[in-house]
Amino acid sequence: MTGKVLVIDDLLPNVKLLEAKLSAEYYDVTPAMSGAEGIEKAKAILPDIILLDVMMPEMDGFQTCIKMKADPDIMHIPVVMVTALSDMQDRIKGLEAGADDFITKPINDVHLLARVRSLVRVKLMLDELRIRDKTSLEFGLETSKHPESVIGNILLIDDDVVQSRGMEKHLVAKGHSVMLAQPTEALEVIAAHAFDLVIVSTLLADADGLRLCSQIRSQEKSRQIPILILVEEEERQLLVKGLEMGLNDYLICPVDANELVARARTQIRRKHYQDALRGSVEQTLNMAIVDSLTKLYNRRYLDVHLHNMVEQALIKKTELSVLTIDIDHFKQVNDGPGLGHHIGDEVLKQIADRIRNSIRTTDLATRPGGEEFVILMPNTNIKQAAEVAERMRNTVETIAFEISARDGKLSCTVSIGVAEINKAGDTSIELLKRADAALYRAKHEGRNRVVVSQSTVILAKM
Ligand code: GH3
Ligand code: MG
Ligand code: MG
Repeated sequence: MTGKVLVIDDLLPNVKLLEAKLSAEYYDVTPAMSGAEGIEKAKAILPDIILLDVMMPEMDGFQTCIKMKADPDIMHIPVVMVTALSDMQDRIKGLEAGADDFITKPINDVHLLARVRSLVRVKLMLDELRIRDKTSLEFGLETSKHPESVIGNILLIDDDVVQSRGMEKHLVAKGHSVMLAQPTEALEVIAAHAFDLVIVSTLLADADGLRLCSQIRSQEKSRQIPILILVEEEERQLLVKGLEMGLNDYLICPVDANELVARARTQIRRKHYQDALRGSVEQTLNMAIVDSLTKLYNRRYLDVHLHNMVEQALIKKTELSVLTIDIDHFKQVNDGPGLGHHIGDEVLKQIADRIRNSIRTTDLATRPGGEEFVILMPNTNIKQAAEVAERMRNTVETIAFEISARDGKLSCTVSIGVAEINKAGDTSIELLKRADAALYRAKHEGRNRVVVSQSTVILAKM
């Protein structure tokens, strides 16, 4: 998952430096050399994040930020202020101007990428929510309550009493509810409450903070809760390891109150968007757009939503891939000796669950009919989509299904076709047709495999 970054800085070497660092991570970078040019470009390309220099002639970074945050077309795009290391006042002024976060010069690569990655992810979730809202409106449904509230329940796990009391004070002042816990009781506390954010120190006296994070992530109930870690400036290795583990963000100790408040706000927003995306299926369950057997979206919803997604992807020039999945020889499940249609239904349900568990929050799984599934994957290119498809194919093949007949187990396989949007121009119908053609080839070439559209590459086993 990459994204579009707009870099606004009046000094060419600064722009070039940021461009080089971000392009190396596959971000698509657009430069602008003044506040006015920045606003114009933001409106034209609708980036996923804006990096904004503070010191610029004419319109400075603060004024630019205030203008952007007052413009309905671009106010939802996260802005990161680039400030001088020493200037605390700039940070405060930046946040007051509506900036979402800041990074300090000289720019540290790990910090820059953590900042950009975290904010781009939140932005992509918001984008997907907006498209789903559009689709809901077209069905005459209520749109999801827009989770603009950034107040949350926060758990702080830190054995440094002075530091944790200080953080608690700043967070409570912003309206958050804060609970403090010792490392030993953390998992129990998490299991008993609903948190929007967990902050974990990696400087604990008697416990391994990262290990604790990984335990939090491995529990079903807390898997989706954003985690912020507290690290020491010199502990670069630990920070890199934490970010590689998929932890959401970090704060350097001693904790800066403004950073704390800004990062907590971003992560809580992320959690709220994520809940809204997940909740949208439940809200609409009885509204004739969700399939009652598998709880996946049905054909009507697929048709309207894919149309909206293709339209958006073409406007924003972003990636979009689809998978079409068909169960192999499913008739043999329905008609097999000692089996039957109800056993077929049991398998369909479990395949739907496996599909749901292999996709991201922003992906959308549908069951347009019969034993076929279609998965929509925004911001995903065909190669990434093929990898997800192969993972799905593999989990279906290798883990037997539990059935209430025979010896309780049944093996099954699926064939998958993969296609991506043609950025030169496309329609939802054409895109689905290409995925279907790839699926047809997968069937023709022996089933239990993934075939990518317009390509001879067969990723799955022969
Ligand atoms: P192939 O590998 O070529 O896809 O073979 P297949 O047998 O899976 O394909 P075919 O399309 O010929 O048959 C699909 C079967 O799926 C026929 C139909 O009875 C069954 N089916 C469709 N919807 C449902 C359902 O909701 N529940 C159950 N149990 N079976 C269903
Ligand atoms: Mg089939
Ligand atoms: Mg079929």
